[in-house]
Amino acid sequence: MNLTLHLTNKCNLICKYCFVSHGVERMSREVAFAAVDFCMQNENMSGLLFYGGEPLLERQLIYDTVNYTKSIGKKLKHAFNYKMTTNGVLLDEEFLKFAKGINLAIGFSHDGPAQDDCRRFPGGEGTFALLEDKIPLFSFSVEGVHATDMATLLDKMGYAVRSGQMCAEPALARFGQTSLLRASFAMYNTEEELAGFTNALQKTITMLR
Ligand code: SF4
Repeated sequence: MNLTLHLTNKCNLICKYCFVSHGVERMSREVAFAAVDFCMQNENMSGLLFYGGEPLLERQLIYDTVNYTKSIGKKLKHAFNYKMTTNGVLLDEEFLKFAKGINLAIGFSHDGPAQDDCRRFPGGEGTFALLEDKIPLFSFSVEGVHATDMATLLDKMGYAVRSGQMCAEPALARFGQTSLLRASFAMYNTEEELAGFTNALQKTITMLR
């Protein structure tokens, strides 16, 4: 069973299009643990998505919930995988180490050139510069090769990249593109991993051209 845990309605940003109320509601530890118990009822594998608001405002609850899945999951032979959707503002080395330890997949929201216009702090300050330092990601296309085909092959080689229009069709049209690939790196990635990705990229281009 896959569950989305809406940890909090609070957020540290005020995005133009946000649909979350930004009230004070938050998930208690008891509810999070009960959700874990619930998803262990039938199958032997579950997925948890930490969501908000901004889930990193409830960092301790994420730690506690994951620790709970580990303790109870071990006893009952139930495996978990973890995901989180974040605006990235509160990502830091401590959390990324934790994320790496549990293979937490981090979905990161970013509006590219429109970031400062759409995704701001309550004081009105944009977030592009802060996130540019934190999230090294890049989008690219390869002439003559479809992005989705490349993403499929890269996935088979163990590298997950995003492909498609990146929710930014007008921006792609502006640059004469119909789809892109997007790769992201974090501070815990090693030079060997980067070299492996580059090799895999080269292999896919050779295979598809
Ligand atoms: S980061 Fe997400 S929750 Fe926060 S204001 Fe923006 S859209 Fe809303």
